[in-house]
Amino acid sequence: MMTKKIAVLPGDGIGQEIVAEAVKVIDRLKQAYGLDVELEQGLVGGSAYDKTGSPLPEETLQLARESDSILLGAVGGYKWESLDIAVRPEKGLLGLRAELELFANLRPAILYPQLADASTLKPEVVSGLDIMIVRELTGGIYFGQPRGIRTLDNGEREGYNTLVYRESEISRIAKVAFDIAAKRDNRVCSVDKANVLECTELWREVVNKEAQRFSNIELSHMYVDNAAMQLVREPKQFDVMVTTNMFGDILSDCAAMLTGSIGMLPSASLDINSKGMYEPIHGSAPDIAGKNIANPLATILSVAMMLRYSLNDAENADRIETAVNKVLDDGLRTQDIYSDGMKKVSTSEMGDAVLAGL
Ligand code: NAD
Repeated sequence: MMTKKIAVLPGDGIGQEIVAEAVKVIDRLKQAYGLDVELEQGLVGGSAYDKTGSPLPEETLQLARESDSILLGAVGGYKWESLDIAVRPEKGLLGLRAELELFANLRPAILYPQLADASTLKPEVVSGLDIMIVRELTGGIYFGQPRGIRTLDNGEREGYNTLVYRESEISRIAKVAFDIAAKRDNRVCSVDKANVLECTELWREVVNKEAQRFSNIELSHMYVDNAAMQLVREPKQFDVMVTTNMFGDILSDCAAMLTGSIGMLPSASLDINSKGMYEPIHGSAPDIAGKNIANPLATILSVAMMLRYSLNDAENADRIETAVNKVLDDGLRTQDIYSDGMKKVSTSEMGDAVLAGL
């Protein structure tokens, strides 16, 4: 087997601190279990802008292209908020997604039973929650043409966007969802608004057609308004949900908040060959950057996702997830997930505890 290459892009704010902990975990898996990967660091976001004048330097793009996977911290911060939009830190992230054609966004919403109290919902409704939302990321109304704001004959202005999906775009995201469900509980719920939008009428038709190639998968369909309601009413009914860019944007944030712990959730964005960019769902948290108090677990769990979905190494992914479970069982908590009676730890202490659990 060839050594796999991982591009490591810590980015800004707490990105530096949390990625350092994730790198410690990768290094331990290399030493203890023969994980065959090499790491190379690159610049992205505001820190890249400061050094090179671009939030996504050509060198970083090149590194991302030639790597098998990318581990990203977070980008952004107060310091860069007044910059021109073309060179804002977020452009680094969007640029990577676009250049690498990362069309499938995987957003798990997992609530560890140990943290059930962190949710605003009743513990019995959310404890043990484990949903995977698969969001189409490069098409739909966020990218459809024509778009703009125009002035009508009577002088009134009108804003307009276009919701558009090709069959090939729908079938490839459906396939990702079915493949993932096959590694989980074999159930997919496709979310659309087929009663109102022709575009999603086609969505439903193509998802049904793609499902015929996956005989073990149980497929259901739900309108987006109902899906939003069900997510809050009885979230544990879902295994994998697959949906359009805009619906997925909204539903995945809703699902994330069911868990009440932004510092615990990883995410992935995949291309057609399952090459992926892995990152925590949270941002660069400039309010706590540099204090060694950020929760590194979302980033460490992003490594587990990378192993599972891009590097085909479920064994080491399981090792990480088991170690994370163990530190939670042991009562270790960073300040964002702290509750009475638990042991408060720093970013690096949490990383060390995961290492010990490996
Ligand atoms: P944020 O996710 O950075 O922070 C929201 C709140 O959650 C803050 O109070 C923060 O301290 C806390 N928090 C976030 N991650 C945490 C962690 N790992 N441990 C403990 N607490 C944590 O969102 P924001 O404040 O809206 O944005 C801050 C910056 O991050 C902005 O510049 C924004 O553009 C950027 N951002 C980047 C990404 C990304 O890189 N993918 C995503 C969202 C926001």
